[in-house]
Amino acid sequence: MKILDGKALAEKMYETIKTQTDEMKKKPCLAVILVGEDPASAVYVRNKEKSCEQAGIISKSIKLPENTTEEEVLQHISDLNTDENITGMIVQVPLPKHISEEKVLYAIDPKKDMDGFHPNNLGEVYLGKEKEFLPPATPAGIIHLLEENKIKIEGKNVVIIGRSNNVGKAVSIMLLNRNATVTICHSRTQNLKEHTQKADIIIAAVGIPKFVTADMIKDEVVIVDVGIHRVKKEDGSWGLCGDVDFENVKNKVSAISPVPGGVGPMTVASLIENTMKAEARKK
Ligand code: NAP
Repeated sequence: MKILDGKALAEKMYETIKTQTDEMKKKPCLAVILVGEDPASAVYVRNKEKSCEQAGIISKSIKLPENTTEEEVLQHISDLNTDENITGMIVQVPLPKHISEEKVLYAIDPKKDMDGFHPNNLGEVYLGKEKEFLPPATPAGIIHLLEENKIKIEGKNVVIIGRSNNVGKAVSIMLLNRNATVTICHSRTQNLKEHTQKADIIIAAVGIPKFVTADMIKDEVVIVDVGIHRVKKEDGSWGLCGDVDFENVKNKVSAISPVPGGVGPMTVASLIENTMKAEARKK
């Protein structure tokens, strides 16, 4: 069984990017807007800042209080859109309830949308041009993880559990662009097991801890676990787990991404890669 080690791959990518940024007189700059005090979001933002540092990219964090108005957030985005020193930005979600995530998303200049969530960038993925534009970060991280580990995609039966716009649906198109035969399952799918048992590759993006169990998969399947959950362990301490029951499936799979250390670090690495792409396109 092979572990699809996203942490190691992300570190390797930062080393390569650092050799490029070392040569640049003006370093790329990634801005992150964080609204409110959500502890998980604060950890994600810290990880992004650390990764920027490793890659030689400047990070600018704009931390706003919970009661910031929608207009104020939109003004910050507008300022970043026009600031020539800013290569790109991300707005950390979830946002407080009084701020529309859709309005925020549409306000970001697609050229500065490092998450790759803007409809223009998602549309380019649909048109098969993701390499030239800014692909959504988590799906791009999943593809990297598979390709760098020499997992063949072309002709394979891939089953994706989850159809969110930014993960399940987007990665389905990226896999289709690479000639996989793709099945997308969701909460209304009937007989889910019948689909997953036929899969050569399973992408689990369902948002339910340890949802994928050994009886749902065939031998030698490759599993990419997108989920991330904070769970209480038997000894009372807290830990992280994914959408896959890792301990239960590990002896049956040919390869699997761990949680933590799989898709999470690859998502951040894709943000950094998008920042390099956006900087190159400015010239
Ligand atoms: P989401 O928007 O909640 O979507 C979950 C999907 O799972 C939906 O399409 C839903 O179907 C489907 N689903 C729910 N229950 C199901 C069931 N019983 N059987 C089959 N399908 C079911 O979640 P998301 O944003 O895609 O994220 C998924 C997971 O990945 C979460 O744990 C999230 O925290 C994690 N995540 C991790 C990263 C990372 O960088 N590691 C990035 C993004 C997300 P319906 O559409 O029918 O409701």
